[in-house]
Amino acid sequence: MLGLMQDRPLTLPHLLHRAERYFGHKEIATAGADGAVSVSTIGEVCQKVRRLATAFDALGLAADARIGTFCWNTVDHLALYLAAPCTGRVLHTINIRLFGDQIIYIANHAQDEILFVDRSLLGILWPLADELSSVKYFVVIEDGASNELPDDPRVLTFDGLLQNRPYDGEFRVTDEHRAAAMCYTSGTTGNPKGVVYSHRSTVLHSLAALAADVTGLSESDVVMPIVPMFHANSWGLPYAALLAGASLVLPGPNMDPAALLGLLADHRVTVTAAVPTIWMSLVPMLDDYDLSSVRFILSGGSAVPKALSQTYVHSIGVPLTHVWGMTETSPLATTGTPRSHHARLSEDQLAATRERQGPPVPLVQLRLADDNGAEQPWDDRSAGEVQVAGPWIAGAYYRSDANDSAFTPDGWLRTGDVGVCDEFGSLLLVDRTKDLIKSGGEWISSVQLENEIMAHPKVAEAAVIAVPHERWGERPLACVVVQPGESLSVEELIEHLTPRVSRWWLPDGVEFIDSIPKTSVGKFSKKTLRARFENYRFIGPSAAQPAEHST
Ligand code: ADP
Repeated sequence: MLGLMQDRPLTLPHLLHRAERYFGHKEIATAGADGAVSVSTIGEVCQKVRRLATAFDALGLAADARIGTFCWNTVDHLALYLAAPCTGRVLHTINIRLFGDQIIYIANHAQDEILFVDRSLLGILWPLADELSSVKYFVVIEDGASNELPDDPRVLTFDGLLQNRPYDGEFRVTDEHRAAAMCYTSGTTGNPKGVVYSHRSTVLHSLAALAADVTGLSESDVVMPIVPMFHANSWGLPYAALLAGASLVLPGPNMDPAALLGLLADHRVTVTAAVPTIWMSLVPMLDDYDLSSVRFILSGGSAVPKALSQTYVHSIGVPLTHVWGMTETSPLATTGTPRSHHARLSEDQLAATRERQGPPVPLVQLRLADDNGAEQPWDDRSAGEVQVAGPWIAGAYYRSDANDSAFTPDGWLRTGDVGVCDEFGSLLLVDRTKDLIKSGGEWISSVQLENEIMAHPKVAEAAVIAVPHERWGERPLACVVVQPGESLSVEELIEHLTPRVSRWWLPDGVEFIDSIPKTSVGKFSKKTLRARFENYRFIGPSAAQPAEHST
């Protein structure tokens, strides 16, 4: 017997129409590159969406054209978040912090037809323009910056584009499995991999984000996603906020602690989200601002140090709540919100529970598997690879040969994270199998860095490991074996690497060693190296530059 309920597709036009109809008066504030804050309404954003819809057709974009964005968190980026999927096209957010070659690869692999770029980011994007073979138009969005506009027929302005007559009909996407958005994630080796979200996965993920034990977002919230809109859809918060009708505060390009704190205080923000590096950067000035409106702080991307969360508890009475996930998981997979069995815990014990990534959110399944695939018990001791399944978890990568290794034969995603679960299914990450370094919320591939180091003629072999860093979480330490009879200085090596990798990928430390320890099958034993440099701590400022790096 079948149910007799209406079969309505879970597609984003519903979210757009709902926001337009019920929450048109709600405010969206955006900070510009010049520090000026402009305030518009959801109604005005929806008007922009309608104008963009007409413009996309007028430009002759394909029915499923990939619409690239190279933008900060702004109101115009939000309009594109709606305009692309609601016209049946695919929003493709590009991470502005990637190295030029990766940006070129990603835009070409996704076959972006049009690329929207913030004026302040033209300096990064425009030098690559001629290599972006599928891009017919570059649309520059004003963000208060004064970068020169290129004199090129492919360059249009966002304001110019909006002058088209708006589309005044109903947006319609009938197939909920149609692609809505895509986002590339760093590969340990090889090229970045494309994750393609569907309308259905995005609607369900947004709905789950609203659950009380996830973010509990409501119409009365003022949400400030600091996590970039080019990073796993800003953890889904823009869509979730629109669905709830919450107000939004979008911080634009300026990640200065004073600028962020000013926005949190001035706009009476209630819910905000960022990586631990950002939360750490705000600490020295935390007591100088009135943050009494803040009720919930999400922290993800890397582990939250206990002391950092406690600092927030003591200063503003709100802890940092873990959210764990990855680009492949849309990304919300677990949250560390407090549970009823925590009620009687002392503050010290509570602080320990806040180190946990937490149990999975509704509709996400989680299991721990050992090297042979056997499921591990939830006894808080037996560690295993975290594997997840659910309606907003990737089932394959876009046109990729990485699909065989990333998914189990029964279709679960292998996350490359290693964790334990307690009896309540609350996850605590203890290790990582993927050979990557998470610095300030962004990935550095140790393998790629090793390859570039080993390309130096005086280097015999090299291994790169992650070492804890107070500010960035982790930073790369290069362990280098020099060719017999040669000598190599740190400066020489850094000079060699500088044109080859992003500046923030440059290792903070270089250790010259006699040989790289190997496993029984002859692979580099990173485990042995990590143990050897267990107490290594970087001193002095990191080579990473906050402006190009911190998320
Ligand atoms: P994002 O950084 O946006 O969450 P990525 O796909 O770049 O997404 O990275 C996902 C990885 O980041 C996870 O597999 C995990 O290694 C790490 N990570 C994400 N959230 C957390 C967290 N709360 N605690 C510890 N590590 C995390």
